[in-house]
Amino acid sequence: MENTVKKVNVRVGDTVLILAGNYKGKKGKIISVDPEHNTCKVEGVNIVTKHKKMRRQGEKSELKKMEGSINISNVQIVCGKCGKATRVAHKIENDVKHRVCQKCGNVLDKKFVKAKAKDAEKQEAETANKEEVAKKPLQRREVKHVAESTIKKTAAKKADAEATTKEVK
Ligand SMILES: [Zn+2]
Repeated sequence: MENTVKKVNVRVGDTVLILAGNYKGKKGKIISVDPEHNTCKVEGVNIVTKHKKMRRQGEKSELKKMEGSINISNVQIVCGKCGKATRVAHKIENDVKHRVCQKCGNVLDKKFVKAKAKDAEKQEAETANKEEVAKKPLQRREVKHVAESTIKKTAAKKADAEATTKEVK
């Protein structure tokens, strides 16, 4: 199992609570995840100073402050609904696996929520289409009716024309 990439429960954009270390108790957004090393970077957490040295003329040597990696086991996702730091449960709905809050059951994957909303829209559109289809036969009947009346009229005209030609004879 050494070369397999571990599956992690956190994703970029998640809000997490820091459970240990100097930043314990702080909340922040995940800006990157490294499943291979089981680490992540959280906005404003574990700020480290990188020394950037001048390489070319015109460049400046500077100290750059940026987020350092922290272990994923030291963060816990914060549920957007109940606001609690929670462990993640997995649920499968419509063949899609998604993450839910273990405390309140709120779906944590925004993508999944969006997809679900889209599906609902699709279904609504489909039912609307069905209603339109139900209306269509009526329209067809109307068209047929009109067509029949015009045929009758032309037939009557023909008969008239025939009658007049007969009279002439
Ligand atoms: Zn929750």
